[in-house]
Amino acid sequence: MSTFDLNKLVRPNIIKLKPYSSARSEFKGTAEVFLDANENPFDTGLNRYPDPLQWKLKSQIADFEGVPIENIFLGNGSDEAIDLLVRIFCEPGEDHIIILPPTYGMYQVSADIANVEIRPVQLTLDYQPNVDGILASANENSKILFICSPNNPTGNNIHLDKIRALAQGFPGIVAIDEAYMDFSSQPSCTGLLSEFPNLVVMQTFSKAWGLAGIRLGMAFASEEIIHYFNKVKPPYNINQLTQTAALEALENKAQQEQMVRTIIGQRALLQQYLMSLDFVERIYPSDANFLLVKVQDPKGTYQYLVEQGIIVRDRSNVALCDGCLRITVGTPEENEKLVQALQILPREDFALDNGITK
Ligand SMILES: *Cc1c(COP(=O)(O)O)cnc(C)c1O
Repeated sequence: MSTFDLNKLVRPNIIKLKPYSSARSEFKGTAEVFLDANENPFDTGLNRYPDPLQWKLKSQIADFEGVPIENIFLGNGSDEAIDLLVRIFCEPGEDHIIILPPTYGMYQVSADIANVEIRPVQLTLDYQPNVDGILASANENSKILFICSPNNPTGNNIHLDKIRALAQGFPGIVAIDEAYMDFSSQPSCTGLLSEFPNLVVMQTFSKAWGLAGIRLGMAFASEEIIHYFNKVKPPYNINQLTQTAALEALENKAQQEQMVRTIIGQRALLQQYLMSLDFVERIYPSDANFLLVKVQDPKGTYQYLVEQGIIVRDRSNVALCDGCLRITVGTPEENEKLVQALQILPREDFALDNGITK
């Protein structure tokens, strides 16, 4: 990628764009009296606009992730980073994105909203990317390749050698969605950023950090790519409550590690238990906080669990996920309830009036 030229990938209108200049981005120093942003002067605790570039939070994230602060963008969930990527790079009606189904649904939704074409290249039967097929189908209008690793809904890692080959050979941006990275045995692709100028790595506070409610996602990339994220983002995209809550969470890293350890332990137990059930046909290896489980009667099992007050995700209509339910690993108590319910699952070959009460 020695000849990589980012400005050939960015939409011309975005290169020319003059971004909104907020009061807080125009005057950056400290002062006694701020009368520049039409804020309410009375201190409610939240009467001031938040830092548009979240420097304090980013410096904590930089320490935690080992990524320089100038290589970090923060979004309103990683969904915002996904959406901004499409808007920065893809000219509607001309450019396209490549996705690798079965995978996370937001790549397609963001492209559909922007009227950007989607070219799917199915994962292989072992849920790995078809590297040759992807590279053969790519051309100068292939602006973004979204790779989800660990992948949702299949749960597996995409092998690092495949990611490297794609980052090396793909003409556009390669965006790695690492929403489930903390549950994975494979290291983050942030370690590849200095090697591949076309790489964007996304992570989130929604899963391992237990903070889906604050809407905070991260994108790591070259300073040039981060510059374009900042250019097109809404001026105050990360609100003050979110910045404060994330700073608190980062001060309490041990709690995050404890939750992740528990979830990984529960994942192993749940997997072991589910394997012992005769209507379970297959459990796919998981590097995430959920299991993809192939069962004999997915619709019936799903409906039965709903009646027991337990909601899982029916993925049985998704290509390459025939017969599969996606089950999130819960607390030990929640997993125990699931196990109890499945133990008394009524079966066709199993008399319903045998004294077992539902
Ligand atoms: C859950 C999930 C996300 C999280 O998105 P946020 O907007 O950060 O909540 C991103 N990507 C994938 C693949 C996910 O499953």
